[in-house]
Amino acid sequence: MHELPVTEEIVRIATEHAGAKRIIAIHLVIGELTSFIDDAIQFYFDLIAPDTPAEGATLHFRRVAVRFRCRNCATEFEPVNHDWHCPACEALGGEVIAGKEFHVESIEVDV
Ligand SMILES: [Zn+2]
Repeated sequence: MHELPVTEEIVRIATEHAGAKRIIAIHLVIGELTSFIDDAIQFYFDLIAPDTPAEGATLHFRRVAVRFRCRNCATEFEPVNHDWHCPACEALGGEVIAGKEFHVESIEVDV
């Protein structure tokens, strides 16, 4: 499962930013084009977080929808029902302008 290394990274980043403070919550942004599964990240987090400042922190997931910019006519669109055709000119797919995100948006620490 590729969620393990990314979850380790999440804990590392959060711990680094928290300093010695206890982490209450971690807000994550995950694009729909990534294959990361919330439950799997939560699962690994529960394994990794104990004995770190992130122990007991709540994970919040914000999903970002996929967005394309058509290579043919530059229309920006969100695919509906996995139909990746441009609604304006019917060209397939295009440049991905959103949906590949994966990062820690913010953390909340105990003050
Ligand atoms: Zn188009």
